[in-house]
Amino acid sequence: MKILIINCGSSSIKYKLFEMPGEKLVSKGLIEHIGEKGSAVGDHYAGLKVILGKIKGVSAVGHRVVHGAEKFKKPVIIDDPVIRKIRQCVTIAPLHNPANLAGILACKKLLPGVTQVAVFDTAFHQTIPPYAYTYGLPFELYKRFGIRKYGFHGTSHEFVAHEAAKILRKPLAKLKIITCHLGNGCSITAVDGGRSVDTSMGFTPLEGLVMGTRSGDIDPALVTYIMRKKKLDIHAVENLLNKASGLKGVSGVSNDMRLLERSAAKGNKRAKLAIEIFVYRIRKYIGAYMAVMKGCDAVIFTAGIGENQGSIRRKACEGLFFCLGSKPKVLVIPTNEELMIARSAYGLVKY
Ligand code: ADP
Repeated sequence: MKILIINCGSSSIKYKLFEMPGEKLVSKGLIEHIGEKGSAVGDHYAGLKVILGKIKGVSAVGHRVVHGAEKFKKPVIIDDPVIRKIRQCVTIAPLHNPANLAGILACKKLLPGVTQVAVFDTAFHQTIPPYAYTYGLPFELYKRFGIRKYGFHGTSHEFVAHEAAKILRKPLAKLKIITCHLGNGCSITAVDGGRSVDTSMGFTPLEGLVMGTRSGDIDPALVTYIMRKKKLDIHAVENLLNKASGLKGVSGVSNDMRLLERSAAKGNKRAKLAIEIFVYRIRKYIGAYMAVMKGCDAVIFTAGIGENQGSIRRKACEGLFFCLGSKPKVLVIPTNEELMIARSAYGLVKY
């Protein structure tokens, strides 16, 4: 059975076609610059038409959907009520869910009768307990606006946790695992017995670790202070925190960790500082999650930095476990979010 995995961004569509259950990757590709000036591809519908012109025999489609709020705790087969609920999540994920929805609606038209499945980045974290997901804010904000920690990269954290259990030859239900997804966006999750019990990203993907261009945790009072000092409006301060902060903002060099390491090696002090704060924050979260789970059997590193930059992994773990009296295994496991989506979709459509 061929399952097509679609990941729609605001101006791009990534796809992979898997033969299931063998998990063989049959083809993959990327369409960029959708809707941009001078682009031949005007919208997601046109982009998917191009993709579907290249592949044949699709039995089901799996869509990555960023935000499922509290409405979706696991992957679901898409029908009209599901589409309505994904649309309702747009208010809290205005940057991502509209593109995901555009992909779903286009596939519905282009592949009538083919089952579509939605897999949510937030779903894996729906097992986080209320004391970990509730912010110290007026409770009314949670009730009225759904303001709470949701967490992201769930598909990646879930995938590498499952792979870790295979490598360790132990049931996932018996393992305490800390998964570190370190790419441009970065997040760490505490996975206790296969369930996410805490994660570093929050209501949005801005909270937690220092990332390529995102600040991660800061004093919340800084937002209004910066607005006053620099005379910024809401849009400008959101831009500063999401696009001009993190590794790029501190170093003034780049958001790319490879360039930062080269720059630091040549003596650039701010590049060195950016790497130090990046690593320091990872250590704090690993330590905190070992405390949360009362132990840890394995720490997993994944995504661009986690998979490729041993120096960062080493600095993040050096001396850490000795002082905590526990010696987890440290594993590097390449993430494969698309394969995880294919597995979930196959699980729902195989009968
Ligand atoms: P995204 O979150 O955009 O998917 P990636 O997982 O590709 O990001 O990670 C990008 C980060 O990984 C960058 O900081 C980059 O410097 C770093 N990196 C290190 N080695 C590699 C590599 N071989 N390929 C891609 N990214 C790498």
